[in-house]
Amino acid sequence: MENAATRLAEVRGNIARVCKPARRRPEDVTLIAVSKTKGADAIKPLIDAGQRVFGENRVQEAQGKWPALREAHPDIELHLIGQLQSNKADEAVALFDVIHSLDRPSLLAALAKAMERQGRRVPCFVQVNIGDEAQKGGCPIAELPAFLDAVRAADIPLAGLMCIPPADIEPAPFFALLAKLAADHGLEGLSMGMSGDYETAVMLGATHVRVGTALFGARG
Ligand SMILES: *Cc1c(COP(=O)(O)O)cnc(C)c1O
Repeated sequence: MENAATRLAEVRGNIARVCKPARRRPEDVTLIAVSKTKGADAIKPLIDAGQRVFGENRVQEAQGKWPALREAHPDIELHLIGQLQSNKADEAVALFDVIHSLDRPSLLAALAKAMERQGRRVPCFVQVNIGDEAQKGGCPIAELPAFLDAVRAADIPLAGLMCIPPADIEPAPFFALLAKLAADHGLEGLSMGMSGDYETAVMLGATHVRVGTALFGARG
């Protein structure tokens, strides 16, 4: 069994390797270690190996485990990568440093209100339903221009675009499309790529990759 430090070095090495032909700098790619379903015992070895950026997909689960871990390591950055219900907006704004799943006007209103109330501005990626899948979250591509205008008008820090491409299809065209949409709208941040495809995502411009299994092993 490889340990956490070895896995982390491998993933970082893979990112650096594909950055070279893509003429990118590894330091321009933020590796988000997705720790959902993993307990503190699995997370601590990665923190000890130097990882500081983590991702969770549920507000409640993150509230349970991160406050204690962060007390010991105040420099940890926590990203919300999963779908967010509007009634959890206050808790999300209080706990997370970046939100990747802003995808609809009702959530925008709830987040804007929560940020105003707490005097805390949390950068948000707008999630795009890049494969036009009914069961997935994300703003439809056709509604993106108007939604981005609304986010800007609400004065929420706009980090960029995020997507989860359809499963079991070559993801590269979807990553390329997200990069094109971001460029069209003058956005730099691109949250795309998971354990199975983060190298492809980096070659196509990802600034944030969300990697769970490749760092922690399979989720039970
Ligand atoms: C779980 C999850 C990931 C990480 O998936 P792995 O395949 O384990 O790397 C990335 N993004 C989102 C939105 C997730 O829910």
